[in-house]
Amino acid sequence: MTSVRELSEDFQDCVRFHGHVCPGLAIGYLAAKAALQEFKTGPAEDEELVSIVENDSCAVDAIQVLLGCTFGKGNLLFRDWGKQVYTFMDRRTGKGIRVALKGELPGSKERHVLKTKIDAGTASPEELHQWEAFRASVVNDLISADPGSFFTIEKISDTLPPMAQIMNTEKCELCGEEVVQSKMVEYHGKKACKGCAKR
Ligand SMILES: [Zn+2]
Ligand SMILES: [Zn+2]
Repeated sequence: MTSVRELSEDFQDCVRFHGHVCPGLAIGYLAAKAALQEFKTGPAEDEELVSIVENDSCAVDAIQVLLGCTFGKGNLLFRDWGKQVYTFMDRRTGKGIRVALKGELPGSKERHVLKTKIDAGTASPEELHQWEAFRASVVNDLISADPGSFFTIEKISDTLPPMAQIMNTEKCELCGEEVVQSKMVEYHGKKACKGCAKR
């Protein structure tokens, strides 16, 4: 695999956060690049950039690092749709882009076949090496590409989700822990947290 030292500084930041170099992280890196180019901006200090991600793969970590969109700030929204699609909005202008990966990455099928063998413990050392080389080359292709060559990028103006709010909490009648009111459920006639209601 390409040594981290040869990689661009912003990709290195993503790798440090994510923990390893992988094609998924490189996809997120390139998607975030599309947003940075479109909005001509750096990462969000507050909530001015919003990312809506349609998967919870490695890619999302690069988006958090490069765009400053996080769950904690309320400007990272997850839709569990299993798609390599990202919507980025700039609250200051109300404009955004929808970034969708075009088809499969080059060499995906070959990588998948090799990975299956590796997981089954039947890969030869050459196959292991080949798999690593495939991954390194797709990572390098992605991080040095123009976003438009891997993604379909569409300009949009969408209704933005509301800003993060300070929420009132109340004690769960079963465990006594504080819970955001809107997240409480009724359980045997008591106001309870979802954790208690599940038991
Ligand atoms: Zn990864
Ligand atoms: Zn409880």
